[in-house]
Amino acid sequence: MTMNSAAKDHVESITKALLIPTAAAGVYARTALFEQVVEGLAAFIGRRRDAETEILRFPPVMSRQQLQSSGYLQSFPHLLGCVSSLDGDESDIRALVKGSDWLARLATTDMVLNPAACYPVYPLAAARGQIPAKGLLFDVAAYCFRHEATHEIDRLQAFQMREYLCLGSASQALGFRDRWLSRADEFAMQLGLPHRIEPASDPFFGRAGRLASISQLEQSLKFELLVSLHSDRQPTACMSFNYHLDHFGKAWNLRTETGQIAHTACVAFGMERLALALFATHGIELTSWPTPVRTNLSL
Ligand code: AMP
Ligand code: ZN
Repeated sequence: MTMNSAAKDHVESITKALLIPTAAAGVYARTALFEQVVEGLAAFIGRRRDAETEILRFPPVMSRQQLQSSGYLQSFPHLLGCVSSLDGDESDIRALVKGSDWLARLATTDMVLNPAACYPVYPLAAARGQIPAKGLLFDVAAYCFRHEATHEIDRLQAFQMREYLCLGSASQALGFRDRWLSRADEFAMQLGLPHRIEPASDPFFGRAGRLASISQLEQSLKFELLVSLHSDRQPTACMSFNYHLDHFGKAWNLRTETGQIAHTACVAFGMERLALALFATHGIELTSWPTPVRTNLSL
């Protein structure tokens, strides 16, 4: 990977004031300064919520069965983290943790770490029955986990994702995605972020995954808002705009009012990446940020 070393030094030096490493790679303590900007961003995003959007906040864990039913194991098994724990009575467990092989005795629970904020929504909406004619809109957020292969400062294992979602007909879902895409330039400009928006593909697993990535690109299903944090050649995806066709509709038998399989779309905001992009662009002195950006973020 080529990385402009001056840019890398800049990102590393600002990061010291923002994120404190822990013993776990890609897992950081966040300083008050960082959190202040994340909170400003959350409110800024919230002010862009469409009318009649249902707000839901999810914990960092979700049902393993539900994630499996969404097809996650076919697409991203390499990113998944599962929750395991020790079973037994007190004496069993005391004996286990005294020994060296307690790790081998961990039993999987029925929970996994949530890899994206929108997965819990589809089964929840499906359980409510058919989608009304005007479609359904959600504003969701969750702490997410991904077992990433590398741990650059903008590639965390645990990070916060905010999403807006649309469930409805094909034209409602695609229209929602495209509306957000058309707002993206203005969104980034209000934050003073030099950026570009490009077609993208998800990091699908393995050889079949490469075909899925190509097909995703060919069908223009995913776009990303990119900011050059450490290099122009490898910019950081701070937001994604996704049209899932009827993938989740089929997985959950989500039906529209006319009985058709529903289509879905989501726009995702990577909170840490957006905050890092802001600090990398404007510096770590909030008082010297451009006034309109500070106003927009209530800083
Ligand atoms: P995706 O579902 O991959 O499109 O992710 C949605 C957004 O979450 C991305 O555009 C990023 O801003 C953010 N994101 C994804 N993976 C990570 C990661 N490993 N560390 C930090 N942010 C991430
Ligand atoms: Zn999503």
